[in-house]
Amino acid sequence: MYEERFDKRGFDELRPMEAETGIIPNAKGSARFRIGNTEAIAAVYGPEEVKPKHFEKVDKGIIMCKYDMLPFSVPDRAKPGMDRRDMEISDVITNALNRAVILEEFPRSMITVRVYVTQADAGTRCASLTAASMACADAGLPMRDLVAAVAAGKIGDSICLDLTKEEEDFHEGGATDVPIGFLPSKNEIVLLQLDGKVTKEELSRIVEMGKLGAMKIYELEKSVLQGRFSNESKS
Ligand code: UDP
Repeated sequence: MYEERFDKRGFDELRPMEAETGIIPNAKGSARFRIGNTEAIAAVYGPEEVKPKHFEKVDKGIIMCKYDMLPFSVPDRAKPGMDRRDMEISDVITNALNRAVILEEFPRSMITVRVYVTQADAGTRCASLTAASMACADAGLPMRDLVAAVAAGKIGDSICLDLTKEEEDFHEGGATDVPIGFLPSKNEIVLLQLDGKVTKEELSRIVEMGKLGAMKIYELEKSVLQGRFSNESKS
């Protein structure tokens, strides 16, 4: 049984969030997104010539994305360098961004996305995808929509939004984690993973809760980007 959350949040409540863009002057676009004690920064470069050349596509651009959890992001120093988990997360972020960025506008070109997790308390792939999506928009890339991503899941018998690491490690009744990436204006899911066991009915409740949470993240992303572009037009 999990009747009250460790941090006293409502079951459908997100952790406090912060977002900003334009944090890395040497990148074409950049963003920082924090949710609770999880924070990711993203930098976007390009479009530029594809390297290595054999990855080039004649009819559209490609996204090369790398996710990296910095050694100091967790209490037990994470091992530097890419492991299997980093490769998997880089792939799922790339797949989601492929649906968001209009790559047909950049044939034979490459967009590089680097995401660094500076603090990790669960939900890093979602925070990274949200930051990467904002950085793509900050770079001025044409997009079908912004990606808003958050994990939802089940702890004991309770369906919950935006799990912390302490919740993911819940033993009594176990925990299930479902990271969700959403293109709100298209009503399209671009990231969906499942770590644990749930029934079909529970999964649809989890996805619905995740989509509602993602809508709140989307509102924050839009307001930060609107502020950023209106400041640019004034200067
Ligand atoms: N984590 C860790 N060390 C690692 C990998 C993960 O402490 O080497 C923690 C970190 O808090 C991370 C959480 O475990 O956010 C859950 O990791 P998972 O692989 O489920 O991905 P995430 O929820 O971060 O997308």
